[in-house]
Amino acid sequence: MALILSINGLDSSLLTPMLQHYVEVKQQHSQAILLYRMGDFYEAFLEDACTIARELELVLTGKEAGKQVGRVAMAGIPYHALERYAAQLVAKGFAVAVCEQMETPAAAQGQLLKREVTQIITPGTVLQDGMLPAKRPNYLAAIAGDFGKEQKSKLPEQKTVKPLGLAYADISTGEFFCTQCSDPEQLVQELWRIQPAEVLIAEDLPQNLPPQFHYTQIPPRDFDLVNGREQILTTFRLRSLEGIGCQHLPLAVRAAGAILNYLQSTHQSANLPLKPPISYFLHDYMGLDHQTRRNLEILQTSRDQSVHGSLLWALDQTCTSMGARTLRRWLLQPLKELDQIRDRADTVAELTENHQLRQDLRQVLSQIYDIERLCSRIGNGSANAKDLVGLAFSLGKLQELSTVCQRAHGVFLACFQTVPSDLLDLADTLTKSLNPSPPIELTGGNLILSGVNSELDQLRLQAQQDLNWLAELEKTERDRTGINTLKVGFNKAFGYYISISRSKTDQAPSNYMRKQTLTNEERYITPELKEKEGRILDGERIQFELEYRLFTELRDQAKQQIDLIRQVATKIAAADTLASLAEVAVKQNYCRPVITSDRTLAINQGRHPVVEQTLPVGFFVPNQAELGGSDRPDLIILTGPNMSGKSIYLRQIGLIQLMAQIGSFVPATSAQLGICDRIFTRVGAVDDLATGQSTFMVEMNETANILNHATANSLVLLDEIGRGTSTFDGMAIAWSVAEYLATGIKAKSIFATHYHELNELALVVPRVANFQVTVKELADEIVFLHQVQPGGADRSYGIEVARLAGLPREVISRAQSLLKLIAGNSQIGVGLRQKPQPAQLQIFDLT
Ligand code: ADP
Repeated sequence: MALILSINGLDSSLLTPMLQHYVEVKQQHSQAILLYRMGDFYEAFLEDACTIARELELVLTGKEAGKQVGRVAMAGIPYHALERYAAQLVAKGFAVAVCEQMETPAAAQGQLLKREVTQIITPGTVLQDGMLPAKRPNYLAAIAGDFGKEQKSKLPEQKTVKPLGLAYADISTGEFFCTQCSDPEQLVQELWRIQPAEVLIAEDLPQNLPPQFHYTQIPPRDFDLVNGREQILTTFRLRSLEGIGCQHLPLAVRAAGAILNYLQSTHQSANLPLKPPISYFLHDYMGLDHQTRRNLEILQTSRDQSVHGSLLWALDQTCTSMGARTLRRWLLQPLKELDQIRDRADTVAELTENHQLRQDLRQVLSQIYDIERLCSRIGNGSANAKDLVGLAFSLGKLQELSTVCQRAHGVFLACFQTVPSDLLDLADTLTKSLNPSPPIELTGGNLILSGVNSELDQLRLQAQQDLNWLAELEKTERDRTGINTLKVGFNKAFGYYISISRSKTDQAPSNYMRKQTLTNEERYITPELKEKEGRILDGERIQFELEYRLFTELRDQAKQQIDLIRQVATKIAAADTLASLAEVAVKQNYCRPVITSDRTLAINQGRHPVVEQTLPVGFFVPNQAELGGSDRPDLIILTGPNMSGKSIYLRQIGLIQLMAQIGSFVPATSAQLGICDRIFTRVGAVDDLATGQSTFMVEMNETANILNHATANSLVLLDEIGRGTSTFDGMAIAWSVAEYLATGIKAKSIFATHYHELNELALVVPRVANFQVTVKELADEIVFLHQVQPGGADRSYGIEVARLAGLPREVISRAQSLLKLIAGNSQIGVGLRQKPQPAQLQIFDLT
C-alpha cells in the first residue's frame, strides 16, 4: 500500500494514540516543522517528513498509523544530531518545533509517554552555539506601524510623514535596541544595516520591504502599545520607560514589545536572556546607506560577497568573537560625536605607542571565551559544564587583565583596573567545584570535583570500595574454585556477573545461580554479588542526581551575576576591537587623524586600506586629497583613463573618513578630517536584478537619493554618473548633477568621470577643481602611474585600454580613425558652459 504523505483527508480518530498526539501538537505549531522525540530519534511525519527528507536528504520511510489507516510517511534524525540538522533547516528559512519526551518509559508504565514542545527554533531565536556564526550577530527584528498601506496626501508633491518603529535583539548576546524611523525608506536602510536573521511583521509582506530577509507574520495584537509597555516594564523590572529613553517613542515600544511576545512564545519556559532595550536615534550616527556600504565594501566585497577583501577583513585582528562582532557593529555605525571618537582614538594611540601593553593585552584577550554568548546560555538554563568551566577560566583572566591595564590611561583600558570581586568569587567557586574537563552530558556524573560536597564524597568512597570488592572478588573466587579463567564482569542489560568458560561449568560452586548462557561461557550471580550490584547501581544513580543538582546550583549562582558579566563582556569586546585597530595601525603604518568639527578634508599620502594589503609592499601609490574648508575646493572633477585608479581613489577617501569616525587610525602620513554626517557613494553600474531595474534606473535612483539627502557636511563620491544612457544625455546629466552639488548643496564631493568636458565646470563655478589620474604615454603603450595630480585629462585612453584587453588590431585602428573624426566635430563642453547658471542646465548646442 502506498505511503500516506498528507494529513489532508485523514480521519485522526483512527490514528494510533501517539500519532493522534502528534497531529494535535502539529496543529498548535502549524508554522513550524515538528520534530517529535521517539527514543533515540526525532521523527517527523506526513508533510513534515516529506519536507525534511527533501531538505536534509534523508530516507523517507513509513510508520503504521492504525489498522484502518495504513502507513504514513516518516523521516527522522538521531537525537544527538538535532543541532546540526535544525541549523540546516533554520538556515533554509524553516522554523523547527522540538517536542521532547517529558518522562522515561519506566515512569510511563506502558502508557503513551508525556511529550511537550520545549523549544521553537527560528532563524532569529537560535541560541545553540553550533548554529550561530561566531563573528556575526544574529538579530531578530520587529517592525511596528503600517508599512504597507500608502497614506495618500491631498497634495501629491507633499511628502507624507509616516514614522515606523524598529526593534532588534540578539538573544545569543542579550543586545536589544529600538528606534523610530521617520519613513519607510529610512527603515529599509536600517534593516540593511542590521541584516536581521528574522523580521517580525503584523501584516502580509509589504511590497517595499526587501524580499531578501526572512519575515514572520505575528498577530497584530502582539504589537499593542499598552501590552508592549507592560512587557518591557515587567521583563526588565523597570518602573518607567524613561530610564531606557523610550517614553516618547511609542512605535519603538510597540516593536520591542512584539519581540518580547515572540520570544515568550518560542522559548516558553526559559527566562529571556536579554538586556533592557537601548533606544537610539538614527541621526546620532554617521549615515551610510546600503549602496554606500556595498560600494565601499565595508563588510564584504561586492563581487563575491566574501569578507576577504573587505574593510572588515583589513581591520580585523581581534582576538575574541566578541571583539569581532563589535568591530563589525562600529563599522556600520561610525560616530558623529567628537568626544566619543576621541576616547576611542586615545586608546588606539596608547596601544600603538605602548607595544608591550598591546601585546600583553592581546595575549590575555586571546584566552577569553565568548562570555557574551555563554551568559545567554546560562540565562536560559542551557549552559553545560564546559560552558561554566569556560566562564570560570575567562573570569579568572580578569585579574591578569587588571594587572596589564594598571598603568593604562585610555578609558577603555583603565576600566579593567578594578575587578568586581563578585566575579572573582564566582570564578573561584566554579574553579574549585567543577571538573576542569567535564563531559557535555549533564546526567552521567563526573561534573563535580571531590571535596566539594561531603555526601558526594561519601557516595564516591562507597562506590570505590564496592569496585575494590569486585576486583577482589575475582581473585577470591578464582582461588576458591581453582578456575583461572573465571572473570567478574558487567553488562548494561544484565548487570554484574561471574563468568566461567563452558568447559569448566561443572566446577561452578553451588551458590552460583545461572544468569545468562553464551556460546562459550556461562554467566552466574551470587546472592552477595546481587546485593552489591543493587547498592552500586543505586549509589551511582544517587551520585549522578546529586552532581546534576550541584551543577545547576552553580549555574544559578552564575546566573545571579549575568548583568555584571555582560557589562564586563562589553568592555572586553571594546578593548579587543581597539587593540585590533592599534595592531593594524602599527603593522600598516597608519597615522592618527586630527578630527575637527569643521568641513576640512585634508589627507596626506592617503592609501586604500584594503588594496594596499593585497599588493606587494610599496606598490600602492599614495595620493593627496583636499576638500572643504575656506581654501579648498568643494567639488573635484576627477578624470583619467579606465584602470588608472579613479574608483580606488574615491573609495579610499570614503574609507579613510569612515575609519576616522570609528576611532581608528588611517592609512596616510597625516590627515585632518571634519566630521561628516553622511557618506554617499555612487560607484559602478550594476543592474539590480532583484528589483528588476535597469542599470540606468538604478543609477538615477541612487543619484536622486544623494541629491535629496546630502548636506554641506556630507562626503559625496560619485563615479561615472550618466553612463547608462546616450553620450549627450549622460553628459548633460553629469554636468547638471556636478553643478548642483557644487552650487546648491555644497557638499564635499568628488566626481570621477570619463566626460573630460566636465573639466570646464571649473571655469564657471567657484570652488570646483580639476584633478586627473596620470598615465605615461610610451610609443605604443600607456603606463598607469596611479598618481592624482591637479589638472584635467583631455583624453580617456579608452582605445589604448581596449588594446590592452586584446581587441583585434583592425578594430582598434578603425576606432582610432573614427575617434579623430568625431573629435573634430564635437564641441559639447563649449556648449555646456555657454550660459552658466548655478544649479540650472541650459539648453545647449551640440553641433
Ligand atoms: P578606474 O576606476 O580608473 O577604472 P580603478 O580605480 O578600478 O580604475 O583601478 C584599477 C586598478 O589599478 C586597481 O585594480 C588597482 O590594482 C590599480 N590601482 C589603482 N589605484 C592604485 C594605486 N594608487 N596604487 C597602485 N595601484 C593602484
